[in-house]
Amino acid sequence: MPSLPKWIANGTEVLFSRMMHPVEVSQIDYLDDKLKRVRFFGDLRSASYIPGQVIEFRVNETEFRHYTPAHYDQEQGVCEVLFYLHDYGPGSQWAERLQVGDTTKLMGPGGKMQFQSEYQYHFIFGDESSLGLCRILKSAADAQHQEYLCLLELAQAHCHWPSLVDLQADIVTNTNQNPAQEAVRVLRDMQGKLWNTWQRATFYLTGRAKSIQAVRQALIKRGVGAKQIITFPYWADGKTGL
Ligand SMILES: Cc1cc2nc3c(=O)[nH]c(=O)nc-3n(C[C@H](O)[C@H](O)[C@H](O)COP(=O)(O)OP(=O)(O)OC[C@H]3O[C@@H](n4cnc5c(N)ncnc54)[C@H](O)[C@@H]3O)c2cc1C
Repeated sequence: MPSLPKWIANGTEVLFSRMMHPVEVSQIDYLDDKLKRVRFFGDLRSASYIPGQVIEFRVNETEFRHYTPAHYDQEQGVCEVLFYLHDYGPGSQWAERLQVGDTTKLMGPGGKMQFQSEYQYHFIFGDESSLGLCRILKSAADAQHQEYLCLLELAQAHCHWPSLVDLQADIVTNTNQNPAQEAVRVLRDMQGKLWNTWQRATFYLTGRAKSIQAVRQALIKRGVGAKQIITFPYWADGKTGL
C-alpha cells in the first residue's frame, strides 16, 4: 500500500495494529554519503522473520514504503536496514531524516521473497537498494554452510558499497538506456563447471524492474527453470512506491 488518503492510512494502522511494531532508532551509521545503516529496537517477539522478507514504514501522512532488513534478531528486538538515500522521493527523504531516538512503527514482516533453504546455491541479483537483502541472505546461506553469489548493478560512484557492508559481490555498472546489459553478459559468460554449478541455484532477482526482466529472460534462455527464479521489483522507472 504505497500511497493512501490520510484517513485510510490512519485506519490501516488501527486495522493492522497486530502487524505494527513500535520501534525506536537506536543507532545510525553513515557508511557513505548516500548509504545509511539504521538500527531499530523494539519488542519484535510477535514478529517472526524469514530472511528475505520485507517490512514497511509509514514515511509521511499518506505514504508507505518497503525495505528489507539487513539484520534481524527477533529475540533481541533488533532490526537493521540499509537505506539508499537517492533523494528521489518521500521514502528516501524520510530515511535521511531519521535520527537516534526517533520512534516509528515497523510493519510486517512479510512477502514472497524468502530464503529457500532447500537449495545449496543462492544467486542474488540487485542494485543499491538490494544490499540489505544480500546481507541477510548471505548470513542465512553461511549459517547453513551453503553458497551465495551476489551480482550487483551499481552506479560507478557506488561500486565500493558492497565492501562497506562486508559483502563479496560481482559488480557491473548500470546504464540507464540498457538495463542489466552487463549483468546479462556476465551470465552469458558463465560456462563449464561454474555454470553447471550455479544453474542449480535459487535466483533472487531484485532492484530495478527493467533489469530484473532482462536478467530473468537471460536465465530462462539458458535453461533455468521458472520455479528457481523469485522476482521482486524494488523500484521501476517513473513509478512511485513499489
Ligand atoms: C520489497 C522491497 C524492498 C526494498 N528494500 C529496500 C532496502 O532495503 N533499502 C533501500 O534503500 N530500498 C529498498 N527498497 C526500495 C525503496 O522502497 C525505494 O527506494 C522506494 O521506492 C523509494 O521510495 P521513495 O519514496 O524515495 O521514491 P518513490 O516515490 O518510490 O520514487 C520516486 C522516483 O524515484 C525513482 N526511484 C526509486 N528508487 C530508485 C532507485 N533505487 N534508483 C533510481 N531511481 C529510483 C522512481 O522510479 C521514481 O521515479 C525496497 C523496495 C521494495 C518494493
